[in-house]
Amino acid sequence: MLPPGSTIGILGGGQLGRMLAVAAAQLGYKVHVYAPDAESVAAEVTAHHSQAAWDDEPRLAAFAAACAVVTYEFENVPVDTVRFLSGHVAVRPGVAGLKIAQDRLEEKSFVAGLGGRPAPFAAVPDRAALDAALAAIGAPAILKTVRMGYDGKGQARIMTPADADTAWEAIGRHAAVLEGFVTFAHEFSVILVRGIDGEVCFWDSPVNVHEGGILATSCLPPPQVVLDQQDEARALMAKIAEELDYVGVLTGEFFATDDGPVFNEMAPRVHNSGHWTIEGAVASQFENHIRAVAGLPLGSTATRALPVTMRNLIGADIADIPALLADENCHVHHYSKTEVREGRKLGHATWSGASPA
Ligand code: AMP
Repeated sequence: MLPPGSTIGILGGGQLGRMLAVAAAQLGYKVHVYAPDAESVAAEVTAHHSQAAWDDEPRLAAFAAACAVVTYEFENVPVDTVRFLSGHVAVRPGVAGLKIAQDRLEEKSFVAGLGGRPAPFAAVPDRAALDAALAAIGAPAILKTVRMGYDGKGQARIMTPADADTAWEAIGRHAAVLEGFVTFAHEFSVILVRGIDGEVCFWDSPVNVHEGGILATSCLPPPQVVLDQQDEARALMAKIAEELDYVGVLTGEFFATDDGPVFNEMAPRVHNSGHWTIEGAVASQFENHIRAVAGLPLGSTATRALPVTMRNLIGADIADIPALLADENCHVHHYSKTEVREGRKLGHATWSGASPA
């Protein structure tokens, strides 16, 4: 168990790091953020900050020496950075889950190998392969870059084979995967935490609504069809966590279909669809991630009160904050980002045990 006063390192400086840092502070830990970006909304609330490149080994070594344990809030931290740090300090979760989550093809094969069911998919290393993949998978389909995709970025829909050229250009001609379009009733996520001793706890699964590929809302309770599929999805995520000897919060996104849960993707970190747990659960995803990486016993993941609504404040939505502050049941989170851009996550609002006014 990491003694209070110890320093936890976080790779990445966004809002997830900020909320992890707040949870760490509550448990008596100091936080050191390492991120290359000029703006770090996480570092604004932490004792220490290194603004340095992911491959700056002297700075990484100094960061490792200053931390008792290191974690990450961003799944595109280069695997080599985490490997390098692992030679100097414990990194939790380790490199295995990060490596798989960074590569959509590897992720799907790994999950299928454990008995999970991803959407039908085919590798598209180049433009010629796209025609073959379309012939195999059929349209409609979604072309996704193998690497660096998030929040609907690096994705293009293909309604008919005639859209192939446009889609290939739209994703920047990068190596990709073609996925069959899944007809689903709902999207939901499984958020689990695995402790250092292998104990696994799950939060209740929210139903997630995306707009333009970006999460808009996560709500509880989910519809019955999600409740019916939650156990199967949980069993898969527990198997994944076990296989990776994972420590910390791990999230899986699923489609609830007529044939059961279809695996979409996983994130080796705290997740936007778990933000509701700050006010909505006894221990939040952020608190339990810190507890796990610090070797503390896990807190209860029980939901405090239903219903729960979490709404993202994206781009111009940030102007809604005065109205949200006037809603007595609303918990407002402002990430303190200076640049308001379309599609940028700038904050979120949560109603726990109450509905939006
Ligand atoms: P992703 O970045 O892969 O999570 O995709 C973002 C969103 O696009 C998902 O949450 C879905 O709403 C939608 N989407 C992605 N893949 C598929 C698919 N194979 N079939 C239907 N909808 C999808």
